[in-house]
Amino acid sequence: MSDGPGGAGSLTRTGAGQGGEVAQAASEDEIVRRLAAIGWKGSRAVVLGPGDDAAVLRGGLVVSADMSVEGVHFRFDWISAEEAGFRAGAAALSDMAAMGADPVSLLVSVALPMEGAAGVAGGPAGPEALQRGVAAAGDRAGVPIVGGDVCRSPGPLVVDVVAVGRAVRPLVRSGARPGDSLWVSGALGGPAAAVAAWSRGLEPGDAARSRFVAPPHRIGLGRALAAEELASAAIDVSDGLVADARRIAEPSGVRLCIDEELVPVDAAAGGDLNFALQGGEDYELMFTVPAGAASRIARIGRELSVPLTRIGVVERGRGVLMERSGKRRSSEGLGGYDHFAEAEPAQAPRLGRAGGDHDSGGLGTTPPAGKP
Ligand SMILES: [Mg+2]
Repeated sequence: MSDGPGGAGSLTRTGAGQGGEVAQAASEDEIVRRLAAIGWKGSRAVVLGPGDDAAVLRGGLVVSADMSVEGVHFRFDWISAEEAGFRAGAAALSDMAAMGADPVSLLVSVALPMEGAAGVAGGPAGPEALQRGVAAAGDRAGVPIVGGDVCRSPGPLVVDVVAVGRAVRPLVRSGARPGDSLWVSGALGGPAAAVAAWSRGLEPGDAARSRFVAPPHRIGLGRALAAEELASAAIDVSDGLVADARRIAEPSGVRLCIDEELVPVDAAAGGDLNFALQGGEDYELMFTVPAGAASRIARIGRELSVPLTRIGVVERGRGVLMERSGKRRSSEGLGGYDHFAEAEPAQAPRLGRAGGDHDSGGLGTTPPAGKP
């Protein structure tokens, strides 16, 4: 997830611990806004405060926090402790990619279930395995773990990863302009397909499982987009393509129109467009590009060996529209993961909503992984 202390995602997660009354009365984004209004008063030391994938401090430091909760973002009967740690680290680093930042370090804090204080996921080596997983995600980006905290939890395991990076020209969500085109990296829907399978008591296929436990690494892409000043806005797809598109449209004051037939659906998703539109946990980058830059985007994709697909346009207006065969419709009803969309059980897998239309076993909501 995503967002830094300044990011919507991180605050979202913070909100999860703030009490049920607020949680049940508002959406995740609304809770983020409420909390940001309390904690953010402006500072000359801060260039970019709450509301993006990370906060940016004067001098170019970029800071983001991302929380993963057992039973919400993952389950130990689905994946190992080391895989859970890798996902947590990769998700935190995804926010650095969304900002066009070069990650510098990670801090990892873990709350261990009381009965499992001697071991997470059933063994005394659990906490070490979790940490090894985060470290492996850090290694992929060339960054060390420089600290953190550990405590007991009366509930599930919670791991919070703070990512620190540097960005000369940070990418933000608010810069999309009418006439820009909308792009996304990679292919979407694989993680949602994995969660949908697990939620039905099935074992997902290898490709979908791999896509869930090992999110892509898009640091190089974010860095290239920022260095060449090619992206007018960017976000990482953590809560679902449509939900995250709204998070570009709103702060930019524009409308995004997504052509469903152009959306790259991961083969691991079995061709299911709904997983790609609403699933979340993809950790790909979605970004907008001014007219005339398509050839440069294509070159970057080739140089990095990252598929980049134009999926829509930016227009005057508000919100997100869907288009198919030239016909447009509202995106209303197309959600993404919202931790507070409904009073879901604590064990509801985060990707539940994505699977909502796919017999996800009543797990009502889709995740983002929280981290917008
Ligand atoms: Mg994010």
